[in-house]
Amino acid sequence: MKLSEMGEDRFLAELRERIPDPSSHVTLGIGDDAAGLAIPHGESALVSTDVLVEGVHFTRQTLPPRFIGRKAVAVNASDIAAMGGRPVGILVALSVNVETEEDEVLELIDGVVTRCSELTIDFVGGNLSASPGPMMVSVSILGTSLEGNMLTRAGARSGDAIYVSGKLGAAAEGLDLLQEGMAVSAAGALLVPSGLRDGPVPLAEICLRAHMDPEPRIDLGQFLCKNGAASSCIDTSDGLVRDLIRLCRESRVGGRIEETALPIHPAVLAWERLRRRPPLEQALSGGEDYELLFTSSDEKILETWRDSENTPLTRIGTVTEASEGVRLVLREGTERELTTGGWDHFQTWKSPR
Ligand SMILES: [Mg+2]
Repeated sequence: MKLSEMGEDRFLAELRERIPDPSSHVTLGIGDDAAGLAIPHGESALVSTDVLVEGVHFTRQTLPPRFIGRKAVAVNASDIAAMGGRPVGILVALSVNVETEEDEVLELIDGVVTRCSELTIDFVGGNLSASPGPMMVSVSILGTSLEGNMLTRAGARSGDAIYVSGKLGAAAEGLDLLQEGMAVSAAGALLVPSGLRDGPVPLAEICLRAHMDPEPRIDLGQFLCKNGAASSCIDTSDGLVRDLIRLCRESRVGGRIEETALPIHPAVLAWERLRRRPPLEQALSGGEDYELLFTSSDEKILETWRDSENTPLTRIGTVTEASEGVRLVLREGTERELTTGGWDHFQTWKSPR
């Protein structure tokens, strides 16, 4: 049934039934004019917001509704992770065309609910409005961090090492594959168009997953923060280069990263080889990896993370003086100044991803 046939109140009642009872941190849940959350003594609140717009951040072809919901939660949780905090509650504001099928929206909300429960985040409220155009999913997230103790983009010092978690480029590769016609069926099966069947298909699935269902590095962010292991931190949403430049700007430093050190995802290497493209661009400019990019002067503490956890950390370069700018040392030893690249929300919006 279309939303226009169903009417708002009936639909809201359906929605409400799908949202589980909140945890004990929530003093007042859904149903009132605002929600209430208790912040434990000695902690302070972190707040952030992010919007996913149809035609800009996703299309119905590249992201089924359940994954729109899951991703909206994950990308917001990633911002809290980048601050070293713990995500605790979210609010979801949804604008949808009234001609949208009820099932699609319910599936999206189910995606939000499931991802929240996986990440132990309370769904504390939301808002629903008709949209004359594209669907918009706006999520606000509330997190907590120990008082006076949060990671920021601003603390890098010349001489610190630059690290990145995980592997780079898989989400961007996944988007390319989706745009070339690869898809995941409602039952979760991978649909491969004939033109892509000769490629490394199992690796393609990893890339699709990386794009559709990113994993925020919450535990790593908290580890870095609690142990004072990072001097600055940002999550890589718009591509390694763009986010490194942002971090360097806020810290008033420069940076030098090395091509040979970049942990390019093996799936990216395989697929880009097939496309006869150098994989470097995907690793540098492909966005949405949602890894943590951070600086540190304490290799010893990072070893304790490496020993006990499975998210790999790779040293990719060194913080330099601001006057040196942000540079990439290429495989053959030459240097290239990094100025742009990555996802620019205003310059590149006309070519929807
Ligand atoms: Mg961010």
